[in-house]
Amino acid sequence: MNKLFRADLHCHSYFSDGSDSPQTLIEKAKKIGLCGLSITDHDTVEAYLNLGSIDFPLITGVEFSSFFDGEPVHILGYAIDPWNKGVQELCEWHKTRRENRNRSMIFALNELGFSLSYDELLSGSEKKNQTIGRPHIAQLLIKHGVVDTIQQAFERYLGEDKPGYVAGAVCTPDETISVIHGAGGAAVLAHPHLIKSKRKLRKILQAPFDGMEGYYARFSKEKERPLLLMAKERNLLITGGSDYHGETKPFNQLGSSWVDEATFMRLKEWSARS
Ligand code: AMP
Ligand code: FE
Ligand code: FE
Ligand code: ZN
Repeated sequence: MNKLFRADLHCHSYFSDGSDSPQTLIEKAKKIGLCGLSITDHDTVEAYLNLGSIDFPLITGVEFSSFFDGEPVHILGYAIDPWNKGVQELCEWHKTRRENRNRSMIFALNELGFSLSYDELLSGSEKKNQTIGRPHIAQLLIKHGVVDTIQQAFERYLGEDKPGYVAGAVCTPDETISVIHGAGGAAVLAHPHLIKSKRKLRKILQAPFDGMEGYYARFSKEKERPLLLMAKERNLLITGGSDYHGETKPFNQLGSSWVDEATFMRLKEWSARS
């Protein structure tokens, strides 16, 4: 086993709210000495559909949004077949959900006295099947001079208890996991520390997850420990990644969290497991 092996299993391309192309992400990963990568865009697998042949160890991935008891739960799907019908249909469902929700959020913000337009929100996204969400609305608020930073946009308008927030249509963790399993993949609970209470986290983990993200961005050991314990108790595969978004979240650096070779290979060969 190569002790120097590091693979980042959580990052975003410009097909969702990251700023880099998939090719650039792979180049950056090589440059900093990573040995593997998974690009996990929000609600789309577009990064994998036209990638061509890549001379770098890659595991297919996606980060699906779901809801449990009114709270967002992000689920990473690894080693899925991106062309799988169920995956394609779920991505399409999310696209429609987001179109309706984005229109509602623009409406809610305009009720507060702004003059944003839905067309303007889409104008920067010529990329086919790009997932548009709150980070893009935050950028629009910056463009209109309403706020100075993305963080400020979330704190004042777009956070879950703020006036510009709309939940929109919801899909459960169970439904999402079932699609990931149907596409031969592993379902992993992303950034479990963001779930508001340990009690709720335990309830969420009753769904048939295969793994949990135990190493995240620049997590402290203190934060890590109880989560790693919960994963071990449930026999869940422990994964890790940076949640790199490029310029849109400059504080999360690619490779800041990672998995070793054994975990990477286990996921890479997921569909062949006995
Ligand atoms: P959405 O899927 O449209 O609800 O947007 C959620 C995304 O917004 C997350 O995946 C993050 O990338 C980003 N996000 C959530 N909260 C914040 C925050 N406080 N500051 C910056 N970005 C955030
Ligand atoms: Fe994001
Ligand atoms: Fe997430
Ligand atoms: Zn993410």
